[in-house]
Amino acid sequence: MSRNDGQVDRRSEIAASLAAVRHRIAAACASANRPAQDVTLVAVTKTYPAEDVLHLAALGVPDIGENRDQEAAPKAAAVGAAGADVRWHFVGQLQRNKARSVATYAHLVHSVDRPQLAKALAEAVKQAERSDLDVLIQVDLEADASEVRGGVSAADLSGLAQAIVDSGVLRLRGLMAVAPLDAPPEPAFERLAGLAEALRRDHPDATIVSAGMSGDLESAILHGATHVRVGSALLGKRALLG
Ligand SMILES: *Cc1c(COP(=O)(O)O)cnc(C)c1O
Repeated sequence: MSRNDGQVDRRSEIAASLAAVRHRIAAACASANRPAQDVTLVAVTKTYPAEDVLHLAALGVPDIGENRDQEAAPKAAAVGAAGADVRWHFVGQLQRNKARSVATYAHLVHSVDRPQLAKALAEAVKQAERSDLDVLIQVDLEADASEVRGGVSAADLSGLAQAIVDSGVLRLRGLMAVAPLDAPPEPAFERLAGLAEALRRDHPDATIVSAGMSGDLESAILHGATHVRVGSALLGKRALLG
């Protein structure tokens, strides 16, 4: 089999899983009485190569998520060099010393969870000579605030929102969360919906709810998710933990 055949096979493989994911999203929107256009699919490509991003872009998925700058920065450069126009979503825990790099390619940072990070990102936006950067606040939905998956506590949410607004260059667009690992997702997503609604009272532009992954996107959509972050259901089970 030639190299080209492999690329063709990979593209049709991704096309098939994409059709299945789109079908799941459409069905969940229908049960929730929401238009399917309400939900943006963010394809999470961590551990997968730039070629897969190009396949996704060619198949009509321009929103691409990554969780580590070390991997995302070279991938974004490769995809840009190949001429594809994609929007990079940074969805992982972010160290302050990576803010400068992330601000050079990110379209939306989903994972702002502390004022110090907001401050570092705001500095980075200025250094990158961008006028602004859209961000989400990642909230911790664990009942016992174990902080395993990151995120700000509900109690500290409004203070962080204010710090983001006060930066002048970060635009607060909504909330992101990861459902608890060892509990049913529904109560967590319901809680997230309540927090998002409260946030919108003070910040009307904060309309994004980023929630739901390969295993729980239906539940997230039922509870108002506007962005689902899907990796393994599109690209296959990851060999490494990512
Ligand atoms: C990896 C990852 C996803 C995608 O997870 P899948 O279960 O592979 O769909 C979504 N969100 C974040 C923050 C991730 O790190």
